[in-house]
Amino acid sequence: MRIDKLLSDMGLLSRKETAKAVRRAQITVDGVVATSPAIHVDPDVQTVAYRGEPIVYRRYTYVLLNKPTGYVSATEDTRLPYVTELLPTELRRMELFPVGRLDRDTTGLMLLTNNGPLAHELLSPRHHVEKVYRFTCEHPLCDGCEERFLHGVTIGGYECKPAVLVADDDRMGGYLTLTEGKYHQVKRMLEAVDNRVLTLERVRFGPLTLDDTLPRGAFRYLTDEEQAALACMAKSDV
Ligand code: URA
Repeated sequence: MRIDKLLSDMGLLSRKETAKAVRRAQITVDGVVATSPAIHVDPDVQTVAYRGEPIVYRRYTYVLLNKPTGYVSATEDTRLPYVTELLPTELRRMELFPVGRLDRDTTGLMLLTNNGPLAHELLSPRHHVEKVYRFTCEHPLCDGCEERFLHGVTIGGYECKPAVLVADDDRMGGYLTLTEGKYHQVKRMLEAVDNRVLTLERVRFGPLTLDDTLPRGAFRYLTDEEQAALACMAKSDV
């Protein structure tokens, strides 16, 4: 791969900035100053360094964002704030996109990556990736709501897959586990039992859990273990 592509994939330098760094002799390949941004390197066997710092090449990047309200799950929007605006420039250069959608007023765990095949697999209904939502609602949850969700409530003519509801003691909210992701699904399921969602937060997505320590609007990189667990789930290459 070309050095300028490697550096821009890693979010370090744009192609223009790489050309400038090459002119300033700031980039080396195995200790030898690079003479052109078009030089081809194999990051698995060669060491590319910028200003003396070796660059660890990773083909794909994965981050977990704690989405705040008010942001749309998109990589751009002309009118509304969008989730990738919450990432620093070097990550925005990597062209990360959200895996699945959360409503604008939903908060919590959002996975962003530039690994298209993995995202596709994780969203595929074949894999039944579990998503856990924490919600509060307008009225106490009905007696028998748990059974109704477990047997599959119907929303707009569609019979939902079994969902596990664990209600709070006062029944003014709880945790709902889904294995699918229909449009506004949690809100519509609550409407199907004559209730209304007041707040909604995703706290788990497959093997990924929202950390209490990650503030709203902040992100962190996935650990190697989390990446491996996702790959295992999707049977895809990380
Ligand atoms: N269900 C909803 O209703 N909204 C979300 O954002 C996610 C799941």
